[in-house]
Amino acid sequence: MSILFWESPFALPWENLTGFPVTSTIRAFDWGPMVCRRNVVVMKLPKFFRHLIGLLVLFPGLGLAIDHHQLGWETCASKRHFWGMQTNSGQLKGEVPPGNGRQYARDRVVDVRHVKIDFTPDFKRRSISGNVMIRFSPIAEAIDEISLDAVDLDIKKVESARKIKTWDNDDKKLLIVFSDKVKAGEVIEVSISYEAQPEDGLYFRTREMGYPKGDDHFWTQGEPEKHRYWFPGYDYPNERFTSEVICHVPEGMTFLSNGRLVNEETVEGVTTFHWKQEKEHVNYLISAVGGHLEKLEGRHGSLPLAFYTPPSEFAEARNSFRDTEKILSFLEKEIGVPFPWAKYYSVCVSDFVAGGMENTSITTLTTGTLFSSDTENLRSSFRLNAHEATHQWFGDLLTCKDWSQLWLNEGFATYFTHLYEEEKNGTDEMLYGLYRDAGGFGQQGRKAHRMARLQRPHGTI
Ligand SMILES: [Zn+2]
Repeated sequence: MSILFWESPFALPWENLTGFPVTSTIRAFDWGPMVCRRNVVVMKLPKFFRHLIGLLVLFPGLGLAIDHHQLGWETCASKRHFWGMQTNSGQLKGEVPPGNGRQYARDRVVDVRHVKIDFTPDFKRRSISGNVMIRFSPIAEAIDEISLDAVDLDIKKVESARKIKTWDNDDKKLLIVFSDKVKAGEVIEVSISYEAQPEDGLYFRTREMGYPKGDDHFWTQGEPEKHRYWFPGYDYPNERFTSEVICHVPEGMTFLSNGRLVNEETVEGVTTFHWKQEKEHVNYLISAVGGHLEKLEGRHGSLPLAFYTPPSEFAEARNSFRDTEKILSFLEKEIGVPFPWAKYYSVCVSDFVAGGMENTSITTLTTGTLFSSDTENLRSSFRLNAHEATHQWFGDLLTCKDWSQLWLNEGFATYFTHLYEEEKNGTDEMLYGLYRDAGGFGQQGRKAHRMARLQRPHGTI
């Protein structure tokens, strides 16, 4: 099975971190509609012009977040992040990044093999206590220390079968120093016990905070580098590993995470959920959502589907998720690769940071995407649904190595949403959607140009 990508002159450096062979066959003059059949991405020249605008959508003009405020709830976290990166990095101010302007992924010193997170939320204190086990192996050289991303974590204990000389955390990093060198290829584990009252990455929504009675829950958001606020780890996208998340919640609550449910057990009023992601994925795609949530079940062939909302909004769940099965069928046919994960769940949470976030096998969505039957002709969730579902392949199965390549995640998700729109509502609707997005791109480009001009000294325009 191969997925075919780009070739010079574009020569886009999207890393395939999944083990699939990525071969390049698409030449610039073949650019036409991206038609994916089986395991081949084909471009047809005769349709080039019709889809020229569509290609623009693949570029970083993902302006829905700012130019279409009324559609803000359709915006996924990646798009929001992308926009944030543009502004934070000063690109819109016409500044040149430091150095030679090139962006490189972080160097990997160790190969992270497996991460196991075991934690307990405290809904009253809005804090967590937990333990993280990280299994890793030095890649090229023997090491005597490992540095982990860990922001404002109260580290209680660090343990390993290898003797630890010392450890120290400075509110940004946890540095663990071993007494003896760990050889390249040698696999070891470290276990870190900690507490946290996260300011980012993990959010509580409780009655005390003003949310509806009976809706208490918490959720996480990893992208881009937020998980370091609630557990220590390798928080960068150029590393893949299997993971487990175990959570202990009060009886009556549920807990959701990536992969498949290994075990659920209640002892003395506490229910422990154990989820395992058996396919490698990246750190930012880990998800932990727990609390009072109601479930609607579905199925796509043998793939379990489920849709969760807080209880007070459950009546609107069926409307909002009714396209999911059709979307998955469409994407499997177009992409030619079966849905890559053990299940596909969607969970709506209160006051989410964006429209949706494509965590592997479990997408988080804003409750703003829910709508009642009364608004049937005005509202729809299928675009957000299609966008996040596409990310399960483009973004999750294939992941950007560095955030500078994030536009590829977003470009594919945006474009396939338009293709699904064509399947559902016809070509005119699809073309209008492409036109609308391209308009957003043009508008952003013009804004950037205007801002760049404003930054320059007089007389140099
Ligand atoms: Zn997205």
